[in-house]
Amino acid sequence: MGLRTPEQYRAGLTDGRQVFYRGEQVAEVATHPELAPAVDHSSLCFSIAADRPDLAVRKDAELGDYSAFYHLPRTAEDLRTRGALIEEVSRRGAGTIVLKEVGSDALFALLRATEGAGLDAAEAFYRRCLDEDLALAVAQTDVKGHRALGPSAQADPDLYLHVVASDADSITVRGAKTHTSFSANADELVVLPTRAMGPDDAAYAVSFAVPVDTPGISLYVSPHLSGEKHPFDHPLSANHKLLESLTVFDDVRVPRDRVFLQGRPDLAGPLAIAFVDYHRFTAINYKLPLLDIIIGAAHLVAEANGISRAGHVKDKIARLVAWAETVRGLAELAALRAREGAQGVWLPDPLTVNMAKYTFAHGYHEAVATLMDLSGGLLATGPGGEDWDNPEIRPVLEKYYAAAVPGEQRLRILAFISDLTAGSYGGYQSVLATHAEGSLEAEKMQIARSYDATRATEYVRGLAGV
Ligand SMILES: Cc1cc2nc3c(=O)[nH]c(=O)nc-3n(C[C@H](O)[C@H](O)[C@H](O)COP(=O)(O)OP(=O)(O)OC[C@H]3O[C@@H](n4cnc5c(N)ncnc54)[C@H](O)[C@@H]3O)c2cc1C
Repeated sequence: MGLRTPEQYRAGLTDGRQVFYRGEQVAEVATHPELAPAVDHSSLCFSIAADRPDLAVRKDAELGDYSAFYHLPRTAEDLRTRGALIEEVSRRGAGTIVLKEVGSDALFALLRATEGAGLDAAEAFYRRCLDEDLALAVAQTDVKGHRALGPSAQADPDLYLHVVASDADSITVRGAKTHTSFSANADELVVLPTRAMGPDDAAYAVSFAVPVDTPGISLYVSPHLSGEKHPFDHPLSANHKLLESLTVFDDVRVPRDRVFLQGRPDLAGPLAIAFVDYHRFTAINYKLPLLDIIIGAAHLVAEANGISRAGHVKDKIARLVAWAETVRGLAELAALRAREGAQGVWLPDPLTVNMAKYTFAHGYHEAVATLMDLSGGLLATGPGGEDWDNPEIRPVLEKYYAAAVPGEQRLRILAFISDLTAGSYGGYQSVLATHAEGSLEAEKMQIARSYDATRATEYVRGLAGV
């Protein structure tokens, strides 16, 4: 089929999928007034093929033209150019992940980590995604129940997704994943295990892919970011949003040729971690435009308020720059330090990737606090889009909110920062920074695991004469 257009992607979403939103079943995701902006946002990963083919399209004598998101990294340079593609599509998406990044992360992990399990099925599925230009959501995070207990020790066996029946042709699975981004507006769902597992967890060690409209799958989409937004006071969230769901599998039958892992708890952890290697590399690259947004907004609001030359403002912006450029530098280094993994599939350096993601997430809330500090209280008390649209009120706002720049300019930059930090989209971004692609503790665990302390300990042994 080759590369799809945004229109073909949208049309593909009209099927029998069971989507529920704000208490009601959704007839059609792509035309629903509150869900369509998420579909438009995700369509950016299709439209980019038309105007940046140098970055977004790969040409291959055997495979034909295919989406560069699905280009399997075979060198460090492949990872560097993947980073550039992810940054560019995120720039178009106002600093947020778009769609194809996540599914391709899962495919790379499956091709690297399922040797000895369902590698043939993973290879066949990868080829289909490439040929049909499919967009995938990744359902990894289980609802998890009691956090101190493993899958098979939970009071309710369905709190982690598990296999309940199995025959020569298929497996049947039950349980639920949560926080599944893009599930309502992707073509297929890829299911991955969420954690390392022990011998008692064999039924829970399962990975597969199914179309979103497979019987038994229901998506309960979060109402966070609900309500139609006015573009004046929500310049970001009026146009950009993601949909996350509770993704329920109620005895879903999965054909054998779509099963990548079953009954191998020893492979659950390696597959989960392989996905994380790629997905955090995606995260640190899609965050780069968000870092630019924060620095740009800090400069512009300082200018608007007439405080650019103040010493404390220069100090705060310098700290923001140091944080943002540390993340950017680490993102570049993660690709430079890439190495070859199983099946000749390359992976970004896990230590550097996790350091970048941790540095971003740890510094995000302080960066937001700095933006709020420089902006002043109008982030919470400023006028709204309906006021701005009223010809009698607008001149009042323009007169009384003028500062070092005209009133309109100042109000627009303040509305932008308010949307980014102080409203429901700001809250969403704060939680996303903390938890999406793994929590801070998960990143620290990976940093500790990936760091080889031999160089440091041997050095001290020598100096101390131990
Ligand atoms: C906006 C957004 C989008 C997301 N998109 C996706 C997606 O597309 N697909 C997907 O699969 N997932 C997705 N996630 C899920 C994300 O990876 C998880 O939120 C993250 O891994 C944290 O898991 P949790 O939310 O269950 O929180 P928890 O794991 O409950 O974490 C809460 C706290 O408990 C701590 N904790 C947890 N377990 C233990 C333990 N055993 N011992 C000690 N402390 C513990 C954590 O460190 C943390 O401090 C998304 C999340 C967000 C916020």
